[in-house]
Amino acid sequence: MAAISPFIDPGAQTAEGQLALIHLKRDLLTPVILETSTTDTNRVINTRFGSFPHSNLVNIPWGTQVRAAVVDHRGRGKKSAKKRKREDEGGEDGAQPDAGATTSGFAHIVPPTPETWTTSLPHRTQVVYTPDYSYVLQRLRVRPGDTLIEAGAGSGSFTHAAVRAVFNGYPSAENGAHANGGADSKKRKRQGHVYSFEFHEQRAEKLREELREHRIDPLVTVTHADVYEDGFGKTLDGAVPQADAVFLDLPAPWMAVKHLSRSRPAAKSSSESTPQPSSTNDGDAAAWRSPLNPRKTIRLCTFSPCIEQVQRTTTELRRLGWTNIEMVEVLHRRIDVRRERIGLQEEGLRGTIPMPATVDEALGRLREVEGRLKLFHESTAAAAAAANGGAAGEDGTVEKGWGKESKGQRLLKIKELEKERKTYREGRLVHRTEPDIKTHTSYLCFALLPREWSEADEEKARKKWEGAEDKA
Ligand code: SAM
Repeated sequence: MAAISPFIDPGAQTAEGQLALIHLKRDLLTPVILETSTTDTNRVINTRFGSFPHSNLVNIPWGTQVRAAVVDHRGRGKKSAKKRKREDEGGEDGAQPDAGATTSGFAHIVPPTPETWTTSLPHRTQVVYTPDYSYVLQRLRVRPGDTLIEAGAGSGSFTHAAVRAVFNGYPSAENGAHANGGADSKKRKRQGHVYSFEFHEQRAEKLREELREHRIDPLVTVTHADVYEDGFGKTLDGAVPQADAVFLDLPAPWMAVKHLSRSRPAAKSSSESTPQPSSTNDGDAAAWRSPLNPRKTIRLCTFSPCIEQVQRTTTELRRLGWTNIEMVEVLHRRIDVRRERIGLQEEGLRGTIPMPATVDEALGRLREVEGRLKLFHESTAAAAAAANGGAAGEDGTVEKGWGKESKGQRLLKIKELEKERKTYREGRLVHRTEPDIKTHTSYLCFALLPREWSEADEEKARKKWEGAEDKA
């Protein structure tokens, strides 16, 4: 079996050939595959916080703070401004590292998780972010061993979180392939699996490539298909998903839900204009198999930015017999908590408000400014009188300067005093919502499709419970 994915178990430390995230500052992470044994032995990650040779990043515990290295950037001037910008944002080049020497920049090396991947992944589309997918996955009650359908796959942000949620081991000969969720044999453990559908061929291929790199490809089947037309029954590996839960991040989810039926494709809805699913064509009708787990209530979530999309989706869901339809909007606000330090003693210090904090401080500063002004005028008048041959100061000399400390001296003194202060305990503790956070991402529409209940099921249940009543 292939080595376990770092997304599932990253181990205690970084390793050669492994995906790692360079954490440069909050919300700025750079993904990198650590390689020191390639023919290009001088691989370096160049960032605005310094250069980090791969050789300094392998075989160290996750979470280590790594100091930037001094790197010889000869020839860097020849690069285009575009390439240099890419490097400054966390790209790589083949500069010669001097791995021993360090500068003051640093970064932390952290393991890949769906959360860190979502922050750093190469965007090919809009993506689902952590606040939304964590809520969606728990509302869909996705757990190890479940089978989940996802469409569209997009940039794979949701895919990574979904894989971690369903993971209960890699498929093997003993526990059965994931096809049909191992449902053909009761003895077999159901293998958690994600069936991902994507209409855009290059995107589907790119995601497969990333999943291979992240060693989670045995847990995801990425199928290139138009789910509005073809539904979810035909997957790349020929398996029928038998899904327990479904997540649709599509422009028109109402056009896909007709394919999420139990025993037969639903009739054409009035709210759409696409042709019937291909499975209803005469030849295909007999071969059609539901992509849903027949023994379970199916949980569905659709993700749509506009309320009009939700309205069309809910109309279609109601028509197709889905129940418990509910819409939720996740509003994510990040709260900035900090100490607010106000006062003249803060002048020139970072992150402070260097204004008078009290009336006394304000009056003191006013007196000081006016006193300085008075001295200035007196000294200018004395200098003018001296120039005209008149009297100078009382002692016969012209006063130089104003006899008080300059602004530069004052700032220096404040900086010196700061070293003695416990500034982390000073000031008023305040909190405010960070202004740059996007709050609305999309509306989440949840629904349930109960399992089908046949005459045979009714009879079986009646027999079972009649027996139980007799015993009681
Ligand atoms: N959930 C993804 C993520 O977290 O990275 C982002 C999905 S993106 C917003 C929507 C994707 O749906 C696009 O990649 C688009 O190509 C795909 N799509 C649109 N219509 C589709 C269809 N009929 N069948 C399959 N995929 C479709």
